[in-house]
Amino acid sequence: MRSWPTVYIPDLSERFRLPPLSLFDSSDAALKVLPQQDTYRIYVCGITPYDATHLGHAATYLTFDLIIRYLKATGADVKFVQNVTDIDDPLFERADRDGVDWKALGDSQIDLFRGDMSDLHVIPPDHYIGVAEAMPLVIDAVAKLDEKKSTYLVEGDKYFRVHADPHFGERSHLNESDALKIFAERGGDPQRDGKEHPLDALVWLTSKPKQPTWPSSFGSGRPGWHIECSAIALHYLQPSSNSEFSLDIQGGGSDLMFPHHEMSAAQSAVMTGKPFARHYVHAGMIGLDGEKMSKSLGNLVFVSKLISQGVNPMAIRWALLNRRYREDAMWSGEVLNDSMLAVDRLQLNLAKMEVAPTDVVITQIIGALSEDLDTERALRVLSSWMDETEAGASGGNAGELSRALDTLLGIAL
Ligand code: ZN
Repeated sequence: MRSWPTVYIPDLSERFRLPPLSLFDSSDAALKVLPQQDTYRIYVCGITPYDATHLGHAATYLTFDLIIRYLKATGADVKFVQNVTDIDDPLFERADRDGVDWKALGDSQIDLFRGDMSDLHVIPPDHYIGVAEAMPLVIDAVAKLDEKKSTYLVEGDKYFRVHADPHFGERSHLNESDALKIFAERGGDPQRDGKEHPLDALVWLTSKPKQPTWPSSFGSGRPGWHIECSAIALHYLQPSSNSEFSLDIQGGGSDLMFPHHEMSAAQSAVMTGKPFARHYVHAGMIGLDGEKMSKSLGNLVFVSKLISQGVNPMAIRWALLNRRYREDAMWSGEVLNDSMLAVDRLQLNLAKMEVAPTDVVITQIIGALSEDLDTERALRVLSSWMDETEAGASGGNAGELSRALDTLLGIAL
């Protein structure tokens, strides 16, 4: 599937050294330093194309954009893959509700998403892959699970035995009753009769009327959600055979931690015989005015709407950077106004002939990012620099700071 246009990233002067990046790993529930490597493999779960792109999506993709920017600035090559869940129940249900064709709905939302990512200056994936186009890979992955004797049928639907992976559950740390509850809330079917274990996950659904279907050696149907990500990641990221893990980072919003990431990782581990990702990174959720932002509450804030109202995408970026990526945060008119003012102020200061010293600012921003992407601190450093510049300090290089902000934070003014 077509990705979105490449984002130009200015080079950072070699005077600035980047320490190794430490990131919170949800699986180990601890901060871990990413080992220094020539190549990193990053897989970030993409959207199901309806209700795109709300601020929660934007916050998630921005998080991984920062990681990719940082790793690239160290001189490493970053292989980055993202999927689009263009075959899924929620998409069919929405299309049905609105009386539109699911394919047309999906295509229109994917187009919106690409435009929003481009406006927000988010680095595009090297491979942006829809499930429909990846179907042969997904079918191969299901066949591999069959070979490993980790599947069984319930009325023609094929399930993955989650405990075929001896480490199942170790990435999400949930007790069984919480796992069952969340599984049911997020598309799982713990109650279905005939399942060997209530948490076993659907990998192939037999054909249903009015839904798309694909032929396979195990019957016509369509894949479950989790298997698509295992299949796409393992194929397009081309894991190195001598690496201990298939990928370096598996990422997404914190609502994907369970069951989606646990299931994709378990399926991949059964297929390959090695752990899926070295690091599991999850971004927090964005609420609105004190409430959870969700489609059921009807209070989603869309990036494209804000931009069409004249909001500078960099102000949206600033607002989302002005928080810790792992924590849930609230959006409000005030948050947006403050960010618009901050970005205007930054623009004015970067245009000045004389500015406060900048080397120290760039070094401190790098330091803040290296410590679990502390963007809140990075923006505080920048605000202090603006205070000093406005107070008449001099000796800095505004052009160099401007380029560094683009390189590291994706703030391009
Ligand atoms: Zn996924």
